[in-house]
Amino acid sequence: MDVTRRVFMKVTGAGAATIALSQLGFALAPANAYAKELKIKGAKEVISICPFCSVCCHYIAHVRDGKVVSTEGDPGYPVSEGALCAKGATMNSMINSHHRVLKPKYRAPYSDKWEEKSWEWMLEKLARNIKDTRDKNFKATNESGQVVNRVEEIFHLGSSQMSNEECSVVHQALRAMGVVHMDHQARI
Ligand code: SF4
Repeated sequence: MDVTRRVFMKVTGAGAATIALSQLGFALAPANAYAKELKIKGAKEVISICPFCSVCCHYIAHVRDGKVVSTEGDPGYPVSEGALCAKGATMNSMINSHHRVLKPKYRAPYSDKWEEKSWEWMLEKLARNIKDTRDKNFKATNESGQVVNRVEEIFHLGSSQMSNEECSVVHQALRAMGVVHMDHQARI
């Protein structure tokens, strides 16, 4: 075997560390057994999409007992070929973070408290507010009498989690209501 200086340093370094730990009285057998037990053992692989930008990198979520235990880039996704940037690489932490909001929260006008609401309640509330704002502010003509059919009091920001087709449907719905101010998260 051709032992280069780099290989020599690596082998002797690892060997020295192991000897030092055992000499200090650490029992290495349980640690070695644990290292052999992969944390993704028995987990199901589910392909999902990183929500942080429009590249939409696929990642593999390892799911066991309904819980994501690990994530990694999907080598089968042709755009990124398994690579994830720093944001996508933290997917597992984000999914399992105790800071993550899992249910709709509503803060009433002038209130300093967030209330937990159902999705049905929240969607009804959003639809009501959008319809009321649209009806109250819709302008059929401008100051010169030209037909404009627009609402300038609503702004829509699209999500990079949406596909081109979903963006197209939302865009058409907004235009139908007369909304003219809109942008997309992926462009910012
Ligand atoms: S991993 Fe990075 S580049 Fe890929 S979709 Fe997520 S944020 Fe975008």
